[in-house]
Amino acid sequence: MMAMTIASSSTMHIQLGITQLTPPTNTSIFTQTNSSFGRNRVVPFALQTKKQRRPQNIQGDFFVDHTCIDCDTCRWMAPVTISTLLNETFTQVDDMSAVYKQPSCEDERLRALQALLSCPTSSIHTEEPARDIVQVQKTFPIAIDVNKIPDVYHCGYHSEKSFGAASYFIVHPEGNIIVDCPRYTESLARNIEMMGGARYMFLTHKDDVADHAKWSKRLNCERIIHVEEVTGSTANVEIKLDGRSPWSLGEDFTLHHTPGHTTGSVCLFYKLKKVLFTGDHLFNSETGLSISEKYNFYSVPIQLENIRKLLELDFEWILPGHGRRASFKDVAEKNNALKTFLSSKSELC
Ligand SMILES: [Zn+2]
Repeated sequence: MMAMTIASSSTMHIQLGITQLTPPTNTSIFTQTNSSFGRNRVVPFALQTKKQRRPQNIQGDFFVDHTCIDCDTCRWMAPVTISTLLNETFTQVDDMSAVYKQPSCEDERLRALQALLSCPTSSIHTEEPARDIVQVQKTFPIAIDVNKIPDVYHCGYHSEKSFGAASYFIVHPEGNIIVDCPRYTESLARNIEMMGGARYMFLTHKDDVADHAKWSKRLNCERIIHVEEVTGSTANVEIKLDGRSPWSLGEDFTLHHTPGHTTGSVCLFYKLKKVLFTGDHLFNSETGLSISEKYNFYSVPIQLENIRKLLELDFEWILPGHGRRASFKDVAEKNNALKTFLSSKSELC
């Protein structure tokens, strides 16, 4: 496998090859609640028992227990249709997920079991032992769109340590890349290994690093994070981005410093496939593009300023850490969505 290169603004190539360039939805079997990155849940101690079926679940095999942190993962992973009329279907049930429609075909069951395995708090269960669970484990990482971006996958296995954030896997001839960090799971590690392993683990920011050390050791991948996101847990990360953005990672990827959510948030741009991995810089919601003002650790105005800079990038997909993914038919549609979002926040700019 060829090593990629990372380069820096003064055009000096450094070891490991990063180059810094000159500036140049749907209905769900789970009900909707207020998405809050799952961080503000206060569950009465008496209700914290595992596997206690919430009464808000519809009758049947699948159910959510009281330990749900409302991260929204199951609700976007297990849609029962691809309808876009999301807002008319979701219902808030006491700030937690609940099953409102039991799977009624093979595909719905597969998605429900994928959601069960991906739930960061293991809050989803079946009354009957799921004898097909081993087969479902083999479906990870999950292709996001086999026709449009066949080499980009959702890792699943969200981690509570990352507040339930999504992570991704990119298969690339110059070396595969994991974007942000899934919960360490040996079956996922084996599947990734069978797909060629991972050359890099790119971490968008300090919130979503979860079990990065275990993954790095298991897959022998080099971790990349911005120097301002380094904490005690990531002190030994192999590549720390510093200096002037953007940096290039091989031929097909650039890394863009997008401070705002945190000071060292970075987006990964897969130029060839027009995909932007945004971490917590920008995500989709049921009402369009969005950010979390509540969970902002640096500056909302600076975050908005750096979202405006995304108008210059030629992408059609947004794959975030928290929140939902977005796809656009072309760059013009993406820019319209960005402008609509920015104008809705004009009082904060
Ligand atoms: Zn974050």
